[in-house]
Amino acid sequence: MAETASRRPAPPDVDRRAASEAAVAARRARAAVKKSIASREVSPLTVLDHATAQPDGVEGRLRVTEFLLSVPAIGTTKMNEALAKLGISPAKRLGGLGRHQRLRLRDFLIERENKAGRQRNQLVVLAGPTAVGKGTVSTYIRENYPDVLLSVSATTRAPRPGEVDGVNYYFVDDEEFDRMIEEGELLEYATVHNAYRYGTPRGPIEKALDDGKSVLLEIDLQGARSVRESMPEARLIFLLPPTWEELVRRLIGRGTEDSAEQARRLETAKVELAAQDEFDHRVVNHDVAEAAREVVDLMKVRAAPSRP
Ligand code: 5GP
Repeated sequence: MAETASRRPAPPDVDRRAASEAAVAARRARAAVKKSIASREVSPLTVLDHATAQPDGVEGRLRVTEFLLSVPAIGTTKMNEALAKLGISPAKRLGGLGRHQRLRLRDFLIERENKAGRQRNQLVVLAGPTAVGKGTVSTYIRENYPDVLLSVSATTRAPRPGEVDGVNYYFVDDEEFDRMIEEGELLEYATVHNAYRYGTPRGPIEKALDDGKSVLLEIDLQGARSVRESMPEARLIFLLPPTWEELVRRLIGRGTEDSAEQARRLETAKVELAAQDEFDHRVVNHDVAEAAREVVDLMKVRAAPSRP
């Protein structure tokens, strides 16, 4: 054995130095995250979400023990009780939690925030079939309810007449969209109508929730499902047309798509309508101002109890 070990070449000095410098930098970055949780600068839930998006990133490499100990008012006893109750081994890192462990840990953190009277601000997803008027309702909310942050998505489709970059969407090319995915910048993303990619930037949402604002995402059904998976406390609202005929009329009437695209979107709409039972609430879009008020009213209600 000793002979084998002695024959193994030692890493060059420069490699060892680089590795130890990288380890020191990683430790410092983890210490900075813990400090910002302890000072309430950042919510533990936000850190957990980052860890989920990038298990090998700084947050993902945090041990669950050091993470919990940095949460204000959690000491060793409470931490041990929590880990036992949640069925999480103290050796685990945040990025290595199983799906159920992560969801139980999220519920535990949300419950603590609610008990402390710091109700987590609302993340609300507005979805519904194509042409139902989601865009019009969300624009109305942006213009009339300044306390609600309307998330601006990134998309690879071209702007329509009158659409403004940074207001309606961030219009990006495929390369930039790939970069956003790779760097974990998107909370969710999907290819919609088999055509273009759309995604929700994570940073502005987390900042708004931490600043005490409510956030509204206007996204498609796949996106709504991804958000439910990663942030189960989000409230999902389904916008319905008054009738199917009205939906067809609105889609053809707006004249922004050619007939092949209209047919494709109507097919998608049928499938999407069938998913309405997955949602927490349904709002019928008879009238834009009324539907917008109903959506905003729902944002003020306490978060739904956590799901199993
Ligand atoms: P449009 O091209 O008509 O603006 O939008 C097409 C569809 O993409 C709509 O159903 C809209 O809700 C959805 N969408 C817009 N932004 C996002 C997003 O960030 N993520 C997902 N998953 N869907 C989005």
